[in-house]
Amino acid sequence: MKKRLFTPGPTPVPEEVMLRMAAPIIHHRNPEFMEILARVHENLRYLFQTTQPVVALSCSGTGGMEAAVSSLFGEGDKVITVNAGKFGERWTELVQLYTGSSTEETLPWGSAITPERLKQLLKEHPDAKGICLTHSETSTGTASDIKTLSAVIREHSEALVLVDGITAIGAHEFHFDDWGIDICITGSQKGLMMPPGLALVAISERAQERINEPARKPSNYYLSLKKALESHAGDDTPFTPAVSLVIGLDEALTMIRSEGIEHVWKRHESLAAACRAGCIALGMKIFSSSPSFAVTPVWLPEGADWTEFNDALKHDNGITVAAGQDAFKGKIFRISHLGYYDELDMLTVIGAIERAMKAIGLPLTPGTGVTAVQKAFLGK
Ligand SMILES: *Cc1c(COP(=O)(O)O)cnc(C)c1O
Repeated sequence: MKKRLFTPGPTPVPEEVMLRMAAPIIHHRNPEFMEILARVHENLRYLFQTTQPVVALSCSGTGGMEAAVSSLFGEGDKVITVNAGKFGERWTELVQLYTGSSTEETLPWGSAITPERLKQLLKEHPDAKGICLTHSETSTGTASDIKTLSAVIREHSEALVLVDGITAIGAHEFHFDDWGIDICITGSQKGLMMPPGLALVAISERAQERINEPARKPSNYYLSLKKALESHAGDDTPFTPAVSLVIGLDEALTMIRSEGIEHVWKRHESLAAACRAGCIALGMKIFSSSPSFAVTPVWLPEGADWTEFNDALKHDNGITVAAGQDAFKGKIFRISHLGYYDELDMLTVIGAIERAMKAIGLPLTPGTGVTAVQKAFLGK
């Protein structure tokens, strides 16, 4: 049985990337590697649409979030976090750890903060040094309008704009420079079609100034963005980088660049729309009111037991989807279309859901979901 991964991290890795990573290891201080790293740095700028440095850290996405918070803020700094899911909550926990408190805005899962509410928050907290947002909240499949939110922040506040872009980069349109973002993070195992192990962090001029303030007392060592930036200037890294992953990333970014970033965004939008159409045709409800292009969480089909349904998907069809988290465990499940996916993959996953529904005895006319997916791509 073929195994197929439909989770929002890790995501499938193309053969081209796997093969590049299988080559014999090279030393990270030799010119061959430094040339690769220079090209990776250049292509990361393209990915984030920036002229500013994007550093590659050897850790998962959370390490990138921690590097940002610990390099920018310290004890007593006021930082606003927006928590509408698992990963917004992570921002809050990191800010609490490094500043001693947090100013948290909590929203119901599946919703996104409005520009009006954000404006109000900025008025209530004129002394905020930073605001932490999530572009695509993976636990709820919800996209935030980062372009508008960032414009509101830049208009009403001096606070730095930090964006968790971990499942947005490579799925949603994103312009780091034009939108006035200060920090944006992604992870290799999400939209970049890579195994886990790298965090990529884009850093604006304003953020670089803050990081390099002479009075700032470091609270980190390995996760220091100051050290990472110093090395980045010479297309180098402060510590031994994850050599194989950097080489794989070179291949993945080359693939993204040859497809064209605008096309990559459009492809994700179109896969997400077809996935939603397939689910709706099968009688399932979409969880989010502002759906992400990276992942589609849906309520379980009526009458389905999650364990039985998931067993039928996994053991009979080789399909791995993601479960709901926290309060939504056993109530929703999440279908990923982030990274290395195409139109036929959507027929596969919706086809597998039909088979699982049938296997657990739910009423179904075979082909209902698949037909909706075909129509979404091919027209009525
Ligand atoms: C996956 C994810 C993270 C955490 O990344 P890790 O690589 O698991 O550390 C953070 N934020 C979002 C939105 C994610 O999807």
